[in-house]
Amino acid sequence: MAQPHDTSDGATLNKSPSPAPVPSTSPSGKLPAELQSCIICRKKPARLCATCRSCSYCSKKCQKEDWPTHKFLCKAYSNESRPTAQHKRAILFTEENERPSLIWVHCTDYPDEGVETADLSPYMEDLAPSVSVVHFNHRLNQVLEDDIIVYNLDDYLSESKPTRSLYRATAPLGFPAVQWRGPIMVMRKVGRGSDAIYSTDMTLADYRNILDYFVNYGKYNATGIEECGKEPEKTANTMRGVKITCKSEQDLRGKKPFVAVQVSTNHAATLDGEVSPISKLVNMPFRAWKIPQSSEARGHGNSLANQAALFLMIDTNPKRPRWGFAPRHWQHGIGDVLLVREDGEDLTLEQAEVLSRFCQYKLIPMVQQATETEDFVVSYRQPLVGITKQSVVDFITAENVEAFKKEMYEWRDAGKDMGEFFESLDAWSGVIGA
Ligand SMILES: [Zn+2]
Ligand SMILES: [Zn+2]
Repeated sequence: MAQPHDTSDGATLNKSPSPAPVPSTSPSGKLPAELQSCIICRKKPARLCATCRSCSYCSKKCQKEDWPTHKFLCKAYSNESRPTAQHKRAILFTEENERPSLIWVHCTDYPDEGVETADLSPYMEDLAPSVSVVHFNHRLNQVLEDDIIVYNLDDYLSESKPTRSLYRATAPLGFPAVQWRGPIMVMRKVGRGSDAIYSTDMTLADYRNILDYFVNYGKYNATGIEECGKEPEKTANTMRGVKITCKSEQDLRGKKPFVAVQVSTNHAATLDGEVSPISKLVNMPFRAWKIPQSSEARGHGNSLANQAALFLMIDTNPKRPRWGFAPRHWQHGIGDVLLVREDGEDLTLEQAEVLSRFCQYKLIPMVQQATETEDFVVSYRQPLVGITKQSVVDFITAENVEAFKKEMYEWRDAGKDMGEFFESLDAWSGVIGA
């Protein structure tokens, strides 16, 4: 007779009431959050799949529901052993393969510099891949414990075929709204945002989270973001936000760089958006959310450039090696970006534009100078004079933004050319590259 949790395809729920073996992903010895609840319905308690021990379900029913995609990796997950301690488990989707595959990616840590390098070259054709960060599951309406990083070759799409194994894996879940092409690699980092430096193993719960991402990408596109005039009507379920448009929207469709929008208060951006470190320092924390792009918009490299948004996302912690830089996923393929305030209050066009210009024209030149000064000090063992990283951070205050606004508006109200104003600030308008 079949056991209560057997599925027809052979995977079983872990029936033992004793604590399940702890997957290697957990540094604290605790089961990672995504394995404590059911990956299908979020219910607790949930039990680990007895075969892979890397995905949890509340019931046989939920396990069965996940099986059509889970089956591609369940057995493989239980079989393979780690080549070396430096290898981390990742998932690869390709154009040729019928199924997704588990791969071991060699990662090298440099703890002194607070960085890690992962050897993606065998899977990414030695090209520089685009990077996207996933930290939210729309289907479950759940924030993920750790960032999941998606690498693909968006910028080289014209030569690629559809990602066959991805379409195969997502087929039971629905058809992706945008086209996915070329090889795609997925890895997991420990932590979120700028803390997420080191890689760790992907679990098969992550695998399901990422399939949900591919299927749902683009479906939340413009939903709940209405462009509006400067003074939109206030309703109970909406708040004002600001859309920062990317270069192609400005060049091809004549959009203004900053557009007032009305957003539903439960919009994905309120959970999924990333808090701009600079906005925190000026006591007006807001979240920035990359508005998913259409198939047509993706794959055109530079046209998705959005410097005004990029500058709002630079790391402001002077102790970190990435200080003064935006995380990599804010440097390429940004597209349109939605800003909403974290406290649910309205964000005005003026607030967003002033802070963004402040960053671009006042702060970035200072960041440049401080980086050069400190590099010089380190190289030549000279005493530190002039502008330091800490002094730049101390300069980011609500008062200084206000003073900048006054300066900017006086110039504007005098009918003078704004371009000249920005030039007068010794503007440095290059891209902060990695
Ligand atoms: Zn369930
Ligand atoms: Zn399994």
